[in-house]
Amino acid sequence: MAKLTKLEDIVSLCKRRGFIFQSSEIYGGLASCYDYGPLGVELKRNVRNEWWKSTVQMRDDIVGLDCSIFMHPLVWKASGHADKFADLIVECKKCNVRSRVDHLARHAQEHTAHVSIETAQKDAQNLSNKVCPACGTVGKFTEPMPFRLMFETQMGANVDDSMTIFLRPETAQGIFVNFRNVLDTTRVKVPFGIAQIGKSFRNEVTTKAFIFRTREFEQAEIEFFCAPGTDEQWYEHWKEVRFKWYLDLENLRLRQHEKDELAHYAKACVDVEYKFPFGSGDWQELEGIANRTDFDLRQHQKGMRTLNAWYEKKGDLSKIELNSEAEDYEKGPLSFFDEQTGKRFIPYVIEPSAGIDRSSLAFLVDAYDEDEVKGEKRNLLRFHPAIAPIKAAVFPLVKKDGMPEIAVKIYDNLKKYFTCFYDEKGAVGRRYRRQDEAGTPFCITVDGQTKEDNTVTVRERDSMKQERVNLSQVKQYLREKLDL
Ligand code: ATP
Repeated sequence: MAKLTKLEDIVSLCKRRGFIFQSSEIYGGLASCYDYGPLGVELKRNVRNEWWKSTVQMRDDIVGLDCSIFMHPLVWKASGHADKFADLIVECKKCNVRSRVDHLARHAQEHTAHVSIETAQKDAQNLSNKVCPACGTVGKFTEPMPFRLMFETQMGANVDDSMTIFLRPETAQGIFVNFRNVLDTTRVKVPFGIAQIGKSFRNEVTTKAFIFRTREFEQAEIEFFCAPGTDEQWYEHWKEVRFKWYLDLENLRLRQHEKDELAHYAKACVDVEYKFPFGSGDWQELEGIANRTDFDLRQHQKGMRTLNAWYEKKGDLSKIELNSEAEDYEKGPLSFFDEQTGKRFIPYVIEPSAGIDRSSLAFLVDAYDEDEVKGEKRNLLRFHPAIAPIKAAVFPLVKKDGMPEIAVKIYDNLKKYFTCFYDEKGAVGRRYRRQDEAGTPFCITVDGQTKEDNTVTVRERDSMKQERVNLSQVKQYLREKLDL
């Protein structure tokens, strides 16, 4: 259905209709940061709400959490991010522009996924005939160097006791470090999950892919804790559940990671991918679903035991080794005692990790359509009603004969239940087109007949069919059609 073939087209549609703007645009913009405009903010909020509804509200085995973005620095040592979360880059000796080694080696498009440092190191042996994308010079690159993707900042006012902390590059670690808290304060028992939506930050090297890859973005993550031995069955469960969640997106597939793509801790990983119509027209990741084994909870048990060393080394993470002394890990503070089997174990974790911005972009691209009405081109966004930014627009046919008064009354009543829009300016045909472009599923028009028989016309966006509905039934009619 999507008829957008160029990234520029989607960028300009987003700007024109108030979905997404460049951040700090009046100052020339800030690279790879974006602001959601009036329609965009509603779209994104709906995507977020749908995710939360299906994962937390509708399930009895998942609870929610909202962790702080700043976390103890040792968290990132234990998780592996402090040492390993980096892209391998080289600098062009002529123009000094830095590029990702894997991108140079593979002629990759801008929004291609990260590879592991080990894979990038293999790629680095192969750059002698590669071209700098900025200046075109061939094979004149510096030695490869790791570029840390986490943003650093200082916390605390005093020079002596301030410390270096990081903006979180994923929300998952906040869940792991609260595993014990949730277990001790709620009725949950393994198997269960903890879900969180929040901002994450990565100092991405390559960023020219609009909101597909940004430096500040929103993630929606579930860490699902289960008994070792049941992990494969839960992994299959989550693959199926998450694939189905993407409403009616066309061009969607699951892609199993090859063995050499897997992170060192992962037993298996699959990506939910969408075929974006622009760029290379490639399948691109919207969400990763990984079997993380018991890696994270074990690592945090080590991290907890490394606290003294952290104080001794004055918080310098590069000088600290995680405490890996032999220990009966299964009995550690992040273990779980299963009363039914009488066994204590460190739970395995299945992690479905989605991007709210990326899926919003996919929903937008997928919804875009063009058709012809009476010889005129019509642009529309065929959003699923659950994510449409505005659910209904209310118009008086003309600005007289008491029609605006009735329309305002309908609008005031409906906006208590749905996001609505009132418009009385210009020809009604033009008003319909504007709402089609915004993806509004229904338009309600008060006309001459309304005063006579208390009915209004309700026009449906996709079919453009109009029905007369009694004023007293409008709310119920929308509820049923929108399934809200
Ligand atoms: P990629 O390889 O494309 O950078 P990733 O495998 O590093 O993605 P994960 O760490 O698995 O991504 O993060 C889970 C999800 O978070 C991704 O599937 C994506 O939807 C989202 N995400 C990750 N990085 C970004 C980013 N820089 N901008 C926007 N969304 C992102």
